[in-house]
Amino acid sequence: MSVLEETLTSEQAMQLEDRYGAHNYHPLPVVLDRGEGVYVWDVEGKKYYDFLSAYSAVNQGHCHPRIVGALKDQAEKLTLTSRAFYNSRLGEYEKYASEYFGYEQLLPMNTGAEAVETAIKICRKWAYEKRGIPENEAVIIVAENNFHGRTTTVISFSNDPDARKHFGPYTPGFIKIPYNDVSALEKVLNENKNVAGFLVEPIQGEAGVMVPNEGYLKTCFNLCKEHKALFIADEIQTGIARTGKLLACDYEGVKPDMVTLGKALSGGAYPVSAVLADKHIMEVIKPGQHGSTFGGNPLAAVVAMAALEVIKDEKLAENAYRLGEIFRSEMQKFIEGNDLIKLVRGKGLLNAIVINDSEDSSTAWDICVKLKDNGLLAKPTHGNIIRFAPPLVMTEEQLHDCIAIIKRTIEEFGR
Ligand SMILES: *Cc1c(COP(=O)(O)O)cnc(C)c1O
Repeated sequence: MSVLEETLTSEQAMQLEDRYGAHNYHPLPVVLDRGEGVYVWDVEGKKYYDFLSAYSAVNQGHCHPRIVGALKDQAEKLTLTSRAFYNSRLGEYEKYASEYFGYEQLLPMNTGAEAVETAIKICRKWAYEKRGIPENEAVIIVAENNFHGRTTTVISFSNDPDARKHFGPYTPGFIKIPYNDVSALEKVLNENKNVAGFLVEPIQGEAGVMVPNEGYLKTCFNLCKEHKALFIADEIQTGIARTGKLLACDYEGVKPDMVTLGKALSGGAYPVSAVLADKHIMEVIKPGQHGSTFGGNPLAAVVAMAALEVIKDEKLAENAYRLGEIFRSEMQKFIEGNDLIKLVRGKGLLNAIVINDSEDSSTAWDICVKLKDNGLLAKPTHGNIIRFAPPLVMTEEQLHDCIAIIKRTIEEFGR
């Protein structure tokens, strides 16, 4: 260990990032050094509840021993071969994960944005080769206020000005419709013969945990089916037990034609993402047509298998469902007597509170700074909304402790 590592204070660590790192984030002023389960510690040793879970990548809790164990064992054996050769773990993982989610095949990638890019490419290719849509005319419908990642194509169909501005020219071939609006989807499907698919988040996480009306996903799925368009669910944030089911689409008994996964697919230990689909869709991709140097490496394969096993063995979907009900009902009671918080919404342990203030006020940020001082880490999303997404390994007792911290902080904040 270097001398620098031993003596760095939070202040120094922040200064280094500020001086030498690109300023593409605006972090809360806390420097984390260690994590275990639902807790993280800063470099001065102060302990916090993590109520963000790295945007739902750490559903299994920080440094889960089974996941870390799998990572260590495999790291000493073989980490990367590229797909120029077979490796001894990939096939096993592809079988495990496909069966786990009820699909025939899996395409392995690394980051969420790559999984979305992959799904877009598969959808377009499928449209030309299986649907007979004229070359270069395939259209994919997306929802307003979506978040699907940061690549050039993905930000092309974002409507967040920060994500888009001065990053053009944009990739064509996308039509945006309002989220949670079935008739808007039906209208585009009726009017445009070249719709290849509909890409949607079952709950819009980044937009502020926007939960659509009951039946929305099912109706959209049926409409897509009727019009022979692929229903593509981006479950990178909502999937893998976060919302109280394995996939958020499970709430409506919908099996999407394609699913993108990332984040908790590795429990936060390593970048692992994937696209799942049945063979009649996946088979449009042939050798040389898509890939990634790291995608499908044996380290990722064992880490993902361990991460998925933990979800099942520790019944994390059930726990997220149960704790989510408690969280929302406790917060609901609290906000009825508090005019600083407008509402609480969410599913399972993906929740948000909306602050009763203008969109551009700093109230949500200021509350998060106070929460940090009181030992709980959360981050505002879209101005006046705070997302609450703790690791799913949380106990009921810990949750009540966290609810008490949140209530106390908001009361202190007062008016
Ligand atoms: C985080 C996220 C992505 C992008 O994942 P990265 O790993 O950051 O590229 C895509 N879609 C959704 C819904 C996400 O939450």
